[in-house]
Amino acid sequence: MRSFTYERATTPGDAAKAVAGTKNAKFIAGGTNLLDLMKLEIEAPTHLVDVTRLGLDRIENTEGGGLRIGALVSNTALSAHPRVRADYAVLTRAIQAGASGQLRNKATTGGNMLQRTRCPYFYDTNMPCNKRQPGSGCAAIGGVSRSLGVIGTSDACIATYPGDMAVAMRVLDATVETVKPDGSTRAIPAGDFHRLWGDTPHIETVLEPGEFITHVTLPKPLGGKHFYAKVRDRRSYAFALVSVAAVIQPDGTGRVAFGGMAPKPWRVAEAEALLPQGAKAVVDRAFADARPTADNKFKIPLAQRTLAGVLADAKA
Ligand code: SF4
Repeated sequence: MRSFTYERATTPGDAAKAVAGTKNAKFIAGGTNLLDLMKLEIEAPTHLVDVTRLGLDRIENTEGGGLRIGALVSNTALSAHPRVRADYAVLTRAIQAGASGQLRNKATTGGNMLQRTRCPYFYDTNMPCNKRQPGSGCAAIGGVSRSLGVIGTSDACIATYPGDMAVAMRVLDATVETVKPDGSTRAIPAGDFHRLWGDTPHIETVLEPGEFITHVTLPKPLGGKHFYAKVRDRRSYAFALVSVAAVIQPDGTGRVAFGGMAPKPWRVAEAEALLPQGAKAVVDRAFADARPTADNKFKIPLAQRTLAGVLADAKA
């Protein structure tokens, strides 16, 4: 690990200013992703701004009947919150499908949205990777790509966004609230938060330099039955090959997003409208523009079978 300097921020605005004002600075909260990347020298920040003491660890009801979740609320606390369990169960299920109990105790809501890819070549500093070192190439294209993306990828990068929580946030139409270094704030719909890779796969979200996540807000509950189905190579402590977050209403309509398939949680309105017609219609439409590799083309029929299982459970 390379040496770095450290400071503890006292307000969200100061945190944003501190990161924007220091070259190669990073926020640190739970550190469950960043510290691993620093140990491997994939990330080498020169300065860390600790954001753990900013009072952003509360979950509050909103006037509109939703929930406003502080960015520092732990994954454990969020998944166990009585209103989340009762009204946003897809979120509880998605969080509890991820990582391990110890990691969920440390990982935060804001940090979870910012998880970096688990492409194996990203972690191997002997291999070219446009995400780790822009312009160096992509070892995954033509390499082992079983776990990587089938849609929304580019000629520069075929990695996926790896998380579970954000897939549920996408289905729930969450909003990410931020503060910028100049003190201004904005609200970013979850669907717009992660970028497709294009020519710049090292830029993973629409956040500007120093922009800091303060909250994630959920609109009023959707009702219906909530599901998070995750298919992976082992039963626990593994990232999704395919995941399905869904909220299904009694008449068979609903919402669905897929994880493990793309640079962002993958939700397509035209596909979702086909839910009453069944899993094949939805997946055919959602992945009509897919560009899978020979190694990962199995993910599309796997997504169909996973969604079919969810829809069968919804009818039970
Ligand atoms: Fe790097 Fe993306 Fe290629 Fe993986 S797929 S090696 S993360 S550029």
